[in-house]
Amino acid sequence: STLNVSNTLKLTAKRFFDKEAIVDGAKRITYGALDQDVTSLARGLVSLGVKSGDRVGVALKNSTEFITAFFAIARAGAVLIPLNPFFSKEECSYIVQQTGAKVLFCGEKGYFVELQKEITTLNEIISVGFQEEGLVQYDELLARQNLEAAFQVEPKEDLFAILFTSGTTGRPKGAMLTHENVLFSTMSAAKVMECTEEDIFLIPNPLFHIFGITFILRSTFCGGKLVMMEKYSVTKALELIEAEKVTVHPGVPTMFILELNSPDFKKYDLSSLRTGEMAAAPCPVEVVERIRKEMNCNVLVAYGMTETSATLTITSFEDTDQLRAETVGRAIPGVELKIVDENRAECPVGKVGELACRGPGVTKGYDNMPEETATAIDHEGWFYSGDLAAMDEKGYVRIVGRKKEMIIKGGFNIYPREIEESLHKHPDIVDAAVIGLPDDIYGEVTCACVVAKEGVDLEQESLQEYIQERFVKYKVPDKFIIMDNLPVTASGKISKLKLTEELKKRLN
Ligand code: ATP
Ligand code: MG
Repeated sequence: STLNVSNTLKLTAKRFFDKEAIVDGAKRITYGALDQDVTSLARGLVSLGVKSGDRVGVALKNSTEFITAFFAIARAGAVLIPLNPFFSKEECSYIVQQTGAKVLFCGEKGYFVELQKEITTLNEIISVGFQEEGLVQYDELLARQNLEAAFQVEPKEDLFAILFTSGTTGRPKGAMLTHENVLFSTMSAAKVMECTEEDIFLIPNPLFHIFGITFILRSTFCGGKLVMMEKYSVTKALELIEAEKVTVHPGVPTMFILELNSPDFKKYDLSSLRTGEMAAAPCPVEVVERIRKEMNCNVLVAYGMTETSATLTITSFEDTDQLRAETVGRAIPGVELKIVDENRAECPVGKVGELACRGPGVTKGYDNMPEETATAIDHEGWFYSGDLAAMDEKGYVRIVGRKKEMIIKGGFNIYPREIEESLHKHPDIVDAAVIGLPDDIYGEVTCACVVAKEGVDLEQESLQEYIQERFVKYKVPDKFIIMDNLPVTASGKISKLKLTEELKKRLN
């Protein structure tokens, strides 16, 4: 197919010229206007010397300008590099240099003028919403109407973006994704979710991460509407769902947990919610069930990675309630999955091993990281996820946890996920994470970090008893620590790296 990210918007703008595409605070923009701005900005980029295949960084908060830049970069045949807008100078500099970005969008005065002086390959910086000597102003760029440029994109070959992984297990890696990669995953998931132009999508996730990006594309592909959030907050999310009559609520588990436990939860009318998508981190069964009951929202659970352009597996409306709560569904059509052992040999049905995948959504590799690419992808094109999972005879996948997070205590394997699921069922616990800490005798011991319901005093002993009643002795955490909240990554998942660091400090 010749569909690419740029003409996906063009086609929708033709069908739905006057329909609202984005709601962004007080701003509302139609598909027709968005498409015109995108063309203007693409021409502006070309006037700055951007050529097909050049890399363009976007360090903007969730906003209309982010989305305009997102499509304009594609329209200019260039490669999008989204950056966390809250990055320090060092973090930003690392990604700009690693990817060789020539142009960078930024949304606030800061270190950018210095950055441009220090990095010789960074030619231009575009300032959005402010002016600064030496930077090119966004509005001025949009107004450069005099240039004609024709852009050719080959969806199968040409990169649409280099997207960075969350850095949950180490330094973020830049996955190279083509137009075909992202459109394939997006369109397949949209189909399972039965998305149409009637859908109104809340965007609580940061747009520099694949989860947010796949929803920009899902809405654009269907002619739906995006409801932007500059930064996630529970109250704002609930307010927007009611005010904009949101029909689809994507989110990481923590967001749903916070909403369900918010004292304001009952104040809002959430009856417009048709469905949701919980993904990006382990989705506790308890939470899935509560969303269905208390939000009256027919939520789906999905599993995927930056490297697979988001969705790899998803539950469907036809699945039983139990399958939808306990599994991450089945592979989207066109994706092959297998479970392999330590030697990458296929495991029998039902056995736990590493999940590997192959399909049109899967990256061809990490940018400028040949060793990591060679470890992750074999010569037959299988991508090894680093996640432990089991698959039943019908193809339903159960995620057991990350390989790196498995705890080995005195020779016994402990999967944190199992204990976390059980803690989530405890009536006084809001959130939980189980990690391993180094130990001289056992190699590792386990520590459960829990967040208690507001106003409840949890005791170590009663928690210990609670787990003891449900698990064999070696799985019972050696320590229980009550915390106000759990540290998260920029994409909103519990960061076990940060948690481990924090605990090492506390316990020393
Ligand atoms: P890094 O690769 O930098 O360590 P990351 O793996 O968290 O970070 P992402 O690409 O954002 O970066 O996340 C993909 C991972 O998220 C998956 O490999 C898996 O471990 C986890 N994940 C995604 N969806 C689910 C889910 N539904 N259930 C459990 N885990 C999930
Ligand atoms: Mg990863």
